[in-house]
Order: sequence, then C-alpha cells, then structure tokens
Amino acid sequence: MNLLEEIKDAGVIGAGGAGFPTHLKLNCNVEYFIINGLECEPLLQSDKYIMRNKSDEIIQAVEEIGRAIEAEHIIIGLKEEYHEEIEALKASIKKFNSKVKLHLSRVFYPAGDEQILVYEVTGRTIQPGGIPLNVGAVVSNVGTVFNIFEALEEKKVTYKFVTVIGEILMPSIVKVPIGTKVKDVLDKCGGTLIKDYSLIMGGPMMGRKISKDQIEDRVITKTDGAIIVISENHYLIEREKVTIEHMKNQAKSACIQCRFCTDMCPRNLIGHPLNPHKIMRSIALNDLNNEAIKQAIICCECGICEMYACPMGLSPKRINIYLKGKLRESGQKWENKTNSFTANIMREYRKVPTNRLIARLHLDKYKKQKLQEGGEVKPTEVKIPLRQGIGAGAIPVVEVGDTVEIGQVIARVEEGKMGSNVHATIRGVISEISDSIAIKAI
Ligand code: SF4
Ligand code: SF4
Repeated sequence: MNLLEEIKDAGVIGAGGAGFPTHLKLNCNVEYFIINGLECEPLLQSDKYIMRNKSDEIIQAVEEIGRAIEAEHIIIGLKEEYHEEIEALKASIKKFNSKVKLHLSRVFYPAGDEQILVYEVTGRTIQPGGIPLNVGAVVSNVGTVFNIFEALEEKKVTYKFVTVIGEILMPSIVKVPIGTKVKDVLDKCGGTLIKDYSLIMGGPMMGRKISKDQIEDRVITKTDGAIIVISENHYLIEREKVTIEHMKNQAKSACIQCRFCTDMCPRNLIGHPLNPHKIMRSIALNDLNNEAIKQAIICCECGICEMYACPMGLSPKRINIYLKGKLRESGQKWENKTNSFTANIMREYRKVPTNRLIARLHLDKYKKQKLQEGGEVKPTEVKIPLRQGIGAGAIPVVEVGDTVEIGQVIARVEEGKMGSNVHATIRGVISEISDSIAIKAI
C-alpha cells in the first residue's frame, strides 16, 4: 500500500475541523505543507499535549508526507508561548535531521483558521471560497498527522485525546475510544461540579453548545477534541438562546454602523470582500440578491464580530449563518469579481489577543486550571457513528453478534465515494447496527 492507501485504510480524517478525508486532501503536490498546531480556540489543549508528548511521531510523519507530496517547505505553526512544545519539536527535528521549520505565532484568535495560518506562513491570501491548494499549500492538523503516523504503523483511528475543562472535578486531557459516551468521559474526570450544566463540544467560539438533556446520545467522534463544562445560565449559553427573529430586529434597530465588526473581521483583514456591518445594514431589505447580503457566504463563522467587536451586543455571525442557509437554499454561489486580494495594512494591530477574548467570553476562571494527563476512558460500551466527517456514511461489514477486536474494520466507505472507514475502538460484541455500530465490551 502507498501512503494515501494506508491513510484511507486507517480511516484518517481531519482531526481538528469538519473531518475532510485525509487521503483525498493529501492527493496533491504542493510548495508548502503546513501543520496546524495553533489550536486557537480558548482553553483547548489537546494539540499542545500531542506536540509535547508525540513530537518524534509528528516529525517522522510530516517528513514522510512532505516527501510524498513533494513539499518544498514543511512548516509547523504553533504559538510562541508553547515553550515546552517548541523544545520537544526542536529536539525531534534535530534527532531525525529533519528539514521541518517552526512558525511561531503571536497568541491571537483565530490564528488556527486555515486561511489565516496560510496567510501568516506564506503571505498569500487564499481567494474567498478557495482552499489552500489555490496558493500552493496544504494544511493538516497535528492530531491528523499523529493519526497518519499511527496509520504508517498499521494502527487505525480508534481514539482521541480530549481536553475536559470547566466545571469538572478533575480537569484533564484523556484518551477516549471513539464512540464513547460523553457522559462516560465526564465520569472519568470525576463528574461535573454543578448539577445544572451545559457543554460546549469543541471551542467556546465555534464549538457546539449542548444542554444536559442532549448529552445522553452524544458520543466522542473523530473530530472531537474538547468538552467544556459550564453553567446552563452561562453568558455563552444565554446568548445562544436568542432567536434569529430577535437578532434581525436588533440588527435593524440597534446597529449603529460603527463598523467595528468589519474592521476586526479576520477574513476582511486578509483582503476578502466581507463587510459584516453592510450585511447588518441590509438585513431589513430581505433581499437575497443584495450584494452585501451575498457576502455572508464567505464568512468563516469565527465569531469575532459578535463575541468581541460589537459594542451593541449584536449577532453578525449568527445572522451570517442564517443568511448562508437561505442563500444555499436559493442556489446562490459565491463568485469572485477579482483575483487580487490585498491584506489590510492595519491587520497586525487588529489581532484579537486570546486572553482578552477569554475575559469577554466570561471564561477567565477556567484559564489557569491545571489539566491532569495520562488518564484513559475504558467504556463498557461504545456507539461508533458510520459518518463522522464530510462525505457519505460507511457501509457496515459486520453483523450483530460478531466479536470484534480493536482496530478491526467494521464499516467501509464505498469505492469512489467520499468518506472514511470505521474501526472497532474496543474489543467486544456488536450489539446494534443503525446509523452507528454499538459494541459491548467483553
Ligand atoms: S464571524 Fe464575523 S468576524 Fe468572523 S469571518 Fe464571519 S463576519 Fe468576519
Ligand atoms: S459592530 Fe455591531 S453596531 Fe457596529 S456595525 Fe457591526 S453590528 Fe453594527
């Protein structure tokens, strides 16, 4: 098997984003291979853990991938404050006589946004709606690269390192078999400190907020990396409850057109024609053909505009998400009117410091939590979704009653379709097959 076949066989998908199948993403030749170790969402530390503890594996894997895609430059992006991780990676680079370079970034949000990272490393702006390949780059997350290392060792994707932080007895980074119930992960960390809690699956800016009564069926998937436990009355949860109609009315009546949302928008700052203040101004027109409204399509949903920039507490990001849905329904697509995109000369001064953002999000109290490491969840049952990222669901190749071993393929992506293989993550017996495969441990 060649590298791409091994990656496909192991079921590797993007570990830090939407879960794009990695064998398809890396089927290219590029100038820049960029490894994303920024993990820019506040409080998250799983990638940091991987870089600190698996630096040898990362360097070996990126060398291998770099050769396969003929990359001239292999660059790992991480934060300048990650002292231990920088030392670990430098030692591994020396050990393997590697040509990998480190790109040290200021601590700002969203430094780990793919388009922002590519701009920071190459100085090139990816066109709106484009991908890094358009400017000769491909980006993989450090978690993905670690999974590729394991694939080269003939190990499949069966677990995740998950940051568990917030209102939890033992804040930790734990190793979790994919398909484990979120409730089991919380129990492993000593349980929640409060009775009435909500969870953020992922980072506070872009992660999914779920209420306590939604967690029963929620399991850890290949794209999960964090669970943040907060009060069900927390500021972030209260903001989530505002209805779209209320947001639209607020935009019509309370937007003062200060344009802070536009001036601080990271996509606007790298030269994209995205002006959230104009979208807010135009929302009253209710016209999907309006040029300003169409800009919502190129919003990356980072949330700077509404959680940091807007002095009126308005919600440009969620209005953009709403408009994107409407524009998609009406078949509208983004069309670039130019090929030239120039970053704003003020960009350096408008980066949002992560610590200031944490304060705005009312999350300061969790910033200094010391995370325990080395724990591993050993569930008695897992429920592994057949579809965990972009593409079609995998087709089961096992039956109820079969005994399976860790790493055994239990569902395969159909030939010619986009998706990823699914493997057993615990040793056990298949107990149910639906849109996921349940395994009871033996
Ligand atoms: S969420 Fe707001 S700040 Fe972020 S890209 Fe969209 S418009 Fe810009
Ligand atoms: S920052 Fe808020 S008030 Fe100012 S233009 Fe944007 S949405 Fe309107």
